[in-house]
Amino acid sequence: MISDALVARLCDRVAASTSDTFSTVNVFTGGTLAKVPRSSPEDVAEAVEAARKAQQVWAGVAVADRIPVFERFHALLLKHTEEILDILQAETGKSRKDGFLEVSAPLVTVGHYARKAPKLLAPQRRQGMLPGLVKTRELRVPKGVVGTITPWNYPFALAFMDIIPALIAGNGVVLKPDTQTALCTLFGVDLLYQAGLPQGLLQVVIGDGPVVGTALVDTADYIGFTGSTRTGREIAARAGRRLVGYSLELGGKNPLLVLADANVHQAAVGAVQTCFSNSGQLCMSPERLFVHTAVYDDFVQRFLNEVKRMNLAAAYDYSADMGSLTSQRQLETVIKHVEDARAKGATVLTGGKARPELGPFFYEPTVLTDVTPEMLCYDNETFGPVVSIYRVADDTEAVERANATSYGLNASVFSKSIAHGEHVAAQLKAGTVHINDGHVVGLGSADAPMGGMKDSGVGRRNGAEGLLKYTESQNISVQRVPLTTPPRWLPFGWYVKSMQGLLRLIRRSNIR
Ligand code: NAD
Repeated sequence: MISDALVARLCDRVAASTSDTFSTVNVFTGGTLAKVPRSSPEDVAEAVEAARKAQQVWAGVAVADRIPVFERFHALLLKHTEEILDILQAETGKSRKDGFLEVSAPLVTVGHYARKAPKLLAPQRRQGMLPGLVKTRELRVPKGVVGTITPWNYPFALAFMDIIPALIAGNGVVLKPDTQTALCTLFGVDLLYQAGLPQGLLQVVIGDGPVVGTALVDTADYIGFTGSTRTGREIAARAGRRLVGYSLELGGKNPLLVLADANVHQAAVGAVQTCFSNSGQLCMSPERLFVHTAVYDDFVQRFLNEVKRMNLAAAYDYSADMGSLTSQRQLETVIKHVEDARAKGATVLTGGKARPELGPFFYEPTVLTDVTPEMLCYDNETFGPVVSIYRVADDTEAVERANATSYGLNASVFSKSIAHGEHVAAQLKAGTVHINDGHVVGLGSADAPMGGMKDSGVGRRNGAEGLLKYTESQNISVQRVPLTTPPRWLPFGWYVKSMQGLLRLIRRSNIR
């Protein structure tokens, strides 16, 4: 299905000077999928320099003239969706349904920034120090070369949701995808070049995070990172030493609240959809469900019914509701969390076992109750298809327990009353809160920024912030008449008095 010729063509895009390779795994079978080139730290340095050269020309292209490249990319993404899905599924093991949502996400990004970027990046007139006498403008200058580091769970969406605004803002980009999911990312990079992106502007390097990722953090002018909180802290410290900016999209232990006035059927269906997306390997997936005691029994029954109806399969069509975990490491973490909970007294209502007959890393959607703080899955991110349900007495308890975590990425609230849902949402410490949905509508509302509070991140993607973070603001101020250097004949005391009079007048007239 993925031909050697295609792999060779895609791998040609990798900045790698030796013949060293990595093997990637076909997640559905456990066999070898492809060999992809291995970049060295020297290759990273060359890639950054090449991107910098191309960027100097690109920065001179008007924003409106950059946009058509991304409009053509949008059309190419729609045309090649099925080919991307084939690669994405083989590399991640996700169901095609989950893959479809993933490949659609960058379409929203392109649509949003194609409309908004020209205005957001245009020079803005600002109020000068003294009205009429000083003219001030704020310009948006590209950072230069952005290093984008992405994980394996949503490799296509996360790469292009971040690369597109970085490029539209006038930067070059050096991308380091996770090695296991390099091919689907390279397919998208190839489409960007087919769409007319200037050669060299977007570079790809592949290798171990601590080697190649570190080399990129040490050379790029800005770092956009998505991955674990642990790695995020290392990157922040390194970038901080160089005084370069960064944004970090990190982990979560997301709560989902079912309030007393929820539509229980809608909550159960919605919870299944969001908890088990990509087998729970979604940073925004809820792993903790807080259910009001008035609807607890009804919700648990309906939720279990829905979970038990899920179809698990290694299928390259839309028949599967859930696919595989992506790696042996993820499978081991999930087994460890569930067995630890079981041993310490949790109840497994459904699931709780691997399904090797479906594929080497399949694990059943698993629902736990009686989970207590000493269990690993209580407040550590499992990043798998495992959720715990807790009974709560009222909204106050639900909010308190939802917020009792070091993370703050995403939360969901189910209530028939939008006002009630919004009231509870405002008390949750999470960068995004979904009402009557799990994670899709906030992500798709690209006009609003999203990201993590607390240990879940620094900075935002989407919205104005998701574009402007890839720029430096520059203040250009013009003194129309000499104000700051009084004429020699004027005693300085008089100058002070006249300036103070002017400042008083301005204050009184409320101009400043
Ligand atoms: P990870 O931190 O291990 O790796 C992420 C990327 O960073 C990979 O490309 C990796 O090679 C690279 N890397 C690793 N060590 C590095 C280092 N020292 N310097 C530079 N780069 C380095 O994370 P992971 O296990 O691949 O991804 C899963 C995690 O990502 C989960 O915690 C999940 O919640 C989080 N995530 C967050 C978001 C979000 O938007 N907030 C989205 C997806 C995943």
